[in-house]
Formats: sequence, structure tokens, C-alpha cells
Amino acid sequence: MKSFFKSLKEPITSVEQANALSKQAKTYFIIALAAAIVLVVLGNVIKDANGIFTVVALIPGLFAILCFYVVYIAKRAKKRVQNLTCDKCGARLGDPAHTESEEASRRMVINHSDNESTGTVYVKVNFACKCPHCGTEKIFQEELRSGSIKVSDYSVNNDLVSVDDLVKGYLAGTNVRI
Ligand SMILES: [Zn+2]
Repeated sequence: MKSFFKSLKEPITSVEQANALSKQAKTYFIIALAAAIVLVVLGNVIKDANGIFTVVALIPGLFAILCFYVVYIAKRAKKRVQNLTCDKCGARLGDPAHTESEEASRRMVINHSDNESTGTVYVKVNFACKCPHCGTEKIFQEELRSGSIKVSDYSVNNDLVSVDDLVKGYLAGTNVRI
């Protein structure tokens, strides 16, 4: 369990690493979900407990959600590693000097709640990476989350990131927004 939390902090740089993390997260997901269900069932059976079991069930329940999220992150990271690997010679791609990128399209997903509306912006970027080792060009498209715009009765805020910064973050494997 300790190594699981530790590995969440490490950047994912290989397909094997992504697969191992995903497998671990799936195992913990099943265990946590089972624990949450057992606690909820116990809470229903033991009426005297006044709902304490249901409250305690939140702990494995939230952990299960975290694990689900980790599986998704591992999947995205795996795709990134595969994209940034030369199909011909296996060299690492994506150093800025050999990479070109351009915005292909963008879309906004709007969510309304009682007090505010949020628009999340996703940008599709076309990448063309030249292998520094064998010269083969690889072209792929990736959708990156630029950020969101929040509009309420009193304020408008956004944390949108420029396409240049999105691309830099993607290539470096840092600040990759999900
Ligand atoms: Zn190559």
C-alpha cells in the first residue's frame, strides 16, 4: 500500500510502469469496493449502529474512486509513452527541436450548477515528431485539457493554459492535465 502511494508521485516513463500501476490500482479498487459494500450491508443489518458503518464505508469508497482515477491516469500515460516512441527504432521522441505541433480543433464542455457554470476547454493538437536517431517521422493527434472557465453571478475566472504550454507540458510529461 505504501509503495502504491509512492508510485503515484513518480512520473510514468515506460509502458511496463503504466501497466504495473494500473494492475495495482485495479486490485485495490476491487478490495476497496468490496470493503465499502460489506460495511454498508453491516450498517443495514445492525440497526443499533445508527449509520456509523455507512459513514465508515466512505473511507474505502473514496479510496475506490481514487483507484479508478489512477487506472485512467495510467492509461493516458501509457498512450503518451507509446506516442513518443519511434515505431521503427524504439528511440524516445518529443524533444522540442525535432517536434512540430499545431492546434487542430477545440471544444468546450459546459456544466451548469445552481451557482455557477463551468466550461472545460479541450484542445486537439497535431504532433509531428522526427526521430533523432533514425529520422522517421511520426504523426499523431492528442486531445489535451486546456483548463476551465467558471462563470458565476459575481465573477468570471479561468485557468486556461496556452497551446504552447500544453504542448511543452505534454512533451516533458509534466503538468499534463486530465
Ligand atoms: Zn527511430
